[in-house]
Amino acid sequence: MSLFGVQEKIESLRKAVSEHNYQYYVLAQPLISDYEFDMLLQELIQLEAKHPGYFDANSPTQKVGGAVNKNFESFTHEYPMLSLGNTYNEEDLRDFDQRVVKQLGHHDYEYVCELKVDGLSISLHYENGQLLRAVTRGDGVKGDVVTDNVKTIRALNSQLKGAFPSSFEVRGEIFMHRPAFEKLNQERADADEPLYANPRNVAAGTLKLQDSAEVAKRPLDIVLYQLIENTPSVKTHFEGLSKLKQWGLVVSNETQICPTIDTVFNYINEWDEKRKLLSYDIDGVVIKVNDYSQREELGFTAKSPRWAISYKFKTEAALTKLLSIDYQVGRTGAITPVANLEPVFLLGTTVKRASLHNANEIERLDVRVGDYVFVEKGGEIIPKITGVDLSKRNIELPVHPYITHCPDCQTELIRKDGEAQHYCPNEDHCPTQVIGKIQHFIHRKALDINNLGDETVELLFKQGLIQNIADLYTIKYEDVLKLERMAEKSAINLIEGIEASKQIPYPRVLFGLGIRYVGETVAKKLAKSFKNIDDLIKSNVEDLLKVDEIGERIAASIVEYFSKPKNIELISTLKAAGLQLESHDEDLTVSNILGGKTIVISGVFHQFSRDEIKHLVEIHGGKNASSISSKTDFVVAGDNMGPAKLEKAVNLKITILNEEEFLNLIHDTKTT
Ligand code: AMP
Ligand code: ZN
Repeated sequence: MSLFGVQEKIESLRKAVSEHNYQYYVLAQPLISDYEFDMLLQELIQLEAKHPGYFDANSPTQKVGGAVNKNFESFTHEYPMLSLGNTYNEEDLRDFDQRVVKQLGHHDYEYVCELKVDGLSISLHYENGQLLRAVTRGDGVKGDVVTDNVKTIRALNSQLKGAFPSSFEVRGEIFMHRPAFEKLNQERADADEPLYANPRNVAAGTLKLQDSAEVAKRPLDIVLYQLIENTPSVKTHFEGLSKLKQWGLVVSNETQICPTIDTVFNYINEWDEKRKLLSYDIDGVVIKVNDYSQREELGFTAKSPRWAISYKFKTEAALTKLLSIDYQVGRTGAITPVANLEPVFLLGTTVKRASLHNANEIERLDVRVGDYVFVEKGGEIIPKITGVDLSKRNIELPVHPYITHCPDCQTELIRKDGEAQHYCPNEDHCPTQVIGKIQHFIHRKALDINNLGDETVELLFKQGLIQNIADLYTIKYEDVLKLERMAEKSAINLIEGIEASKQIPYPRVLFGLGIRYVGETVAKKLAKSFKNIDDLIKSNVEDLLKVDEIGERIAASIVEYFSKPKNIELISTLKAAGLQLESHDEDLTVSNILGGKTIVISGVFHQFSRDEIKHLVEIHGGKNASSISSKTDFVVAGDNMGPAKLEKAVNLKITILNEEEFLNLIHDTKTT
């Protein structure tokens, strides 16, 4: 390609990718499949990498972040970011409507109803069609400049289209979809990390990460709901929203004009039902007067506009007293505050404890011991505190001081960049952490030493018989017998169980080591790419990043783990004890149903990602190929399989299976 051709090609790809982003995010009408989109994007990424001379910060590929901000600069909002008045019932909302009538002196107005997305508000400043600055709400007057992080949001076009004004501000909400949140939490659960409280907390934490490349990996989304111009070019809010859409900015498709308060109630009732079907959380509806000149007439109170209000959906909550706050120490040293409550009955069970997640959550809620708090049951296993009944607060209650030292070993706690959680850094001597690590090691999914229970581990530790996982392999029958309530038979079983664990395959041993962020799935992936532990020990971040699904965070944690001499020593003790520290092909195989078969995967799937389907092929003995040929045994086709591929498969008379048929074939409906 001549250089001239390259530039043209890059530009046309940039345009195409931006256009498809617009079709997908703004219009919700994608014209091409996700796969085709990925192909376009990949082509662009590769061309740009080859020809760095054509770099452009506004290219749609620049959503991967990279800039690192140590401290966020603060910025004073030109117009303060106020909060909204809240209503919780029909009566309050009718009162609001009455106030509007009274102030305007007539009924000639209309409302715009919007979903109140549960995320965090953001103010974007555009100049000449490009994002100049993104500022958080902060205290409403001043916020933090988080432009680099916001730029990673895929739904945000880097270059506006059409006839946009040269300078304007737009406000909206940044949030995370529930499936993305659940996926993150699943990874945390896999790695025994404390779970994130809710999508809003993760979105908030993510936006404040210092490394925008990390932000880019967490899928944030955005929806915009307010255009602000010094000299408005439109007369109504709704027109403003449709302008935003024309310029390529994402607005909600659920926004509706409601000419009367009764139609507002219809909207509210409809969404109170339908919100369960959304992929993101909303906590109510925002009702805004549409006409700008009427807004001006209505004005503001000190805290909020008089022309808008929010209506919050009801949730089942109970009010009870917060008696005390305990702190739990996890095996990785993570500290989780837990509220002890005066027992209260909620949706069929008595609630005595609720998670407070981390210091930020306590600060955000400003809960104080002695307060009356609202408890709700969400999807989580333990209930959560959602607020404080301030009318019941004793004014003498002090602000809750978060602990500074480990409740278990008294070591000073630390906090890492981007982590809401406090950690006890005393990983080798903090009793709870040491015991927790050994308990993790014997866990069913790890070494599965089933004759050794969690309590016995505690006893062995307290007797000074074990300090780490390797010590398990030096325990003697006589020592075990000395333990309280230990019968001969149990002691024999225990020793036998430990002996048997030496046959447990390498991936599970790797998981059992308890390396931070290395859950069961990651351990399997590692064991597949690094056939033995020595190769893994020698690997660097770059090697690790080549393994799919392993990102910077996991890679750094692995490298850090193996950089410590004590861990290397631990591994050599385990090796000497005879544990499995290398892969045998059969470890990773589930069946040989696809033995000797060559399979091509194409299109977009519903239950699994393409990579997961490929993984399934491998663990069932098959071989993946990328293109169809006479050697292909069959094709697994998802939606939007490329037409050329389809034609080729048909011409060569190759069997095509859909996702379900494929899963039936391998009799496996879950990934391993
Ligand atoms: P509150 O925090 O209860 O005062 O509610 C105001 C907040 O609601 C704003 O700061 C936004 O973060 C959020 N919000 C969510 N959706 C909307 C919307 N459509 N219009 C205005 N604010 C919204
Ligand atoms: Zn500690």
